[in-house]
This record gives sequence, C-alpha cells and structure tokens, in this order.
Amino acid sequence: MSSNNDGESFRYDAEVRPGEKRHIMYEVGESFLGDPIEIPVTIINGVNKGPRVFVSAAMHGDEVNGVKVVQEVADRYDPQELSGTIVCLHVLNVPGYRAHLRYLPIYDRDLNRSFPGSENGNEGKRIAKVIYDRFVSNCDIGVDFHTSTRNKVTIFHTRADMSDPAVAEVANAFLSTIVLDGAGAEGMMRRVASEDGIPTITVEMGEAHRYQPAMVDLALENLHNLFAYFGLIDEEFETEPAWQRIVGPKEKKWIRSTAGGWVDMDWGPYPIVEEGNSVCTISDHFKREEHVVEAPFTGLVIGMAANPITVPGQIIAHVVSIDDDDRKVIEQIVDEQGYSRIGTYHWMGRRTTPNEDVERARRGSTTPEESETDESEPERGTA
Ligand SMILES: [Zn+2]
Repeated sequence: MSSNNDGESFRYDAEVRPGEKRHIMYEVGESFLGDPIEIPVTIINGVNKGPRVFVSAAMHGDEVNGVKVVQEVADRYDPQELSGTIVCLHVLNVPGYRAHLRYLPIYDRDLNRSFPGSENGNEGKRIAKVIYDRFVSNCDIGVDFHTSTRNKVTIFHTRADMSDPAVAEVANAFLSTIVLDGAGAEGMMRRVASEDGIPTITVEMGEAHRYQPAMVDLALENLHNLFAYFGLIDEEFETEPAWQRIVGPKEKKWIRSTAGGWVDMDWGPYPIVEEGNSVCTISDHFKREEHVVEAPFTGLVIGMAANPITVPGQIIAHVVSIDDDDRKVIEQIVDEQGYSRIGTYHWMGRRTTPNEDVERARRGSTTPEESETDESEPERGTA
C-alpha cells in the first residue's frame, strides 16, 4: 500500500483534489416546476492513489436502509487516511425519495432499467445518463444498496454476476454469504457498469420504508472489509466469507398463495422450510376453510410477504434450495451469532423473534432471570 501522497484528482465535471472531502448537490434533471433535481453526493478523495469505489442508495426511492449506509460511509472515512476515492451517491432517485415511491413519480419509470441512459431519452434515461457519465463511469468498483419492494421483506443478500471474475471478487470482498447469481435485467446499473469494466454488485437488505440498524451495521462492516481488501484503507481483511451459498437461477422459487384469506406462517425458529411441510396456512374469516401451502423443496427463506392478507397467486415466500451442509451452517450462524449475520427481518405471524426461540431452546426450562451468564449478543434492532 502506498502512502506517498501520490493521489490524483477525481473529476466529474469539476475536480476534487487529493485529500479533499466534498459534499455537493448535483443537478441531474428538472422538476415539474422547472427547478433543478439535485442528488446529494459526497466525494472522499484520498491523499494516496488507489481504486475509486462508488456506493449508492435509493435507486428505488422508498428503499432507505442503504441511505443510512451511504451517510455513514460519507461521514466515517477520512481522505487523509485513504488510498483511492469513495464516491457516495446518497439518493439516486430524488423524485421517488421525496414522494416515498419506488419509481420516478408520475410516469412510474424504473430508474434501475434506464442505464446507461441517454441524452434524448425519457426523463428516467436522462437522469441515468448524468449519474452514469459523471460518477459511475469515473469509478472502478461499485456497490448499489437496495431493499425488497413494499410489502415484502428480504434477508441480507447480494446479487451479482458470479461468472465475471471481477464481479465475483467484489462480492467476495463484501463478504457476501448468500449470492443470487445473474447478470441482472437490461438497463440495470450494476449490469451496465459490470459490462463496462466497473464490477458492481447489488446488496439487498430488509424492507422498504424502514431503518433496520442491524443490517446497516452489517453492510458497513462488509464495506469496511471491501475497502481494506482493495487497499483503500490500511487494515486487515478477509478475502472471502467463511460460508457462501451462490444461488443459480433454477435453485430459487417464489412460493405463491393458493387461496385468499389470512396467512399464518408455520416454520421456524430457523429460516428454513422442509420439503412437503407447511410453509403457511391460509384461512378464511370463519376458519371453515384452511389451505396449507407446502414447500416444494427444503430451502432457506430469503424473502417473504409482509402483509398477512393474500389472494391466489400472491407471493408468500422466496425460497432457495439448500443441502444438509448449508443447513448446518445456517443453524449454527443463527445459534451463535443471531440473525444479524445472515440478515435480520421481522417475521410475519410469529409471536417471538427467531432469536428468542433459539434462546429458549438453548436454555431449556431456565428462565432468563435464573441464567448466570448470557453469552448471546444483545438483541439488535429487529423491528
Ligand atoms: Zn430496489
């Protein structure tokens, strides 16, 4: 690692000198009133030479966990101790963020299908073009933070094209445990950037409209490892996670509702469903009819509906197949470290948090007051 003050200026359409941290509002378009749409950007340019990494959030305007991650990154890292550049794109979709909406309001453009953008395209493509040309294309590596869509929850996981060694290296440096493997849809920023030689991953964490500190902390720890791995900071790092499950397109399935009514989840304390067993029971208001939704295979639940009322065809759970070894690791992680290591989320229809179930099982009949020591980590923001 170099520490010889050989840093270079970072250029977008202005210049940030080595050793400088700059917070700016950058114009990417115009509102209906004709005033500028500006996105908050922080550029931390190290005194020493190194890779340029962008971290971005709120591509979908209601997915806000990542906004806190980016805010903390912008605050924590000191350009005097940095080799390379961190470009913090705090809120990509400002119109959606203002309205608490996923898409660019009124015409429902998906900003994350609009890259690399175009000068003469629709409003989404024009915004994408400015973001891409000014910031993304001037970086070497990227991490884009998302959450699940409204009314669903998701476990902490990464989406990345693992067939691209450069992208896989970024995913591993981020210590991604669960990776949904694939290039992504056309127009997605991570796909376009990765194809352009800027290996980029998407991190999915938690719920829209929520602040889930356990996941934010995990994201910050993993980013810190990534910064160390790529030499931006002079600290020890891991080259890959201790356990990883790379999930191919045919190894995951959306389980859908078979009836209309009220959903009671039937699994736990681990986020695992057993082949042929009930994932949930759906009942009508008089409980005259009950429908059991069965798991098609034994799998890890990585996503779930957050709303307990359903109709046929609606998503109940997103499940990834696992083998016995994966299962042992998942159970061990949950037992030893709690859910924050694989992703914390609230569990629809469960009266206790999974951690509490595990605690109770471990203690047997001992009540919490009677136990002499409590070796488990304190409950962290599972709300
Ligand atoms: Zn998203």
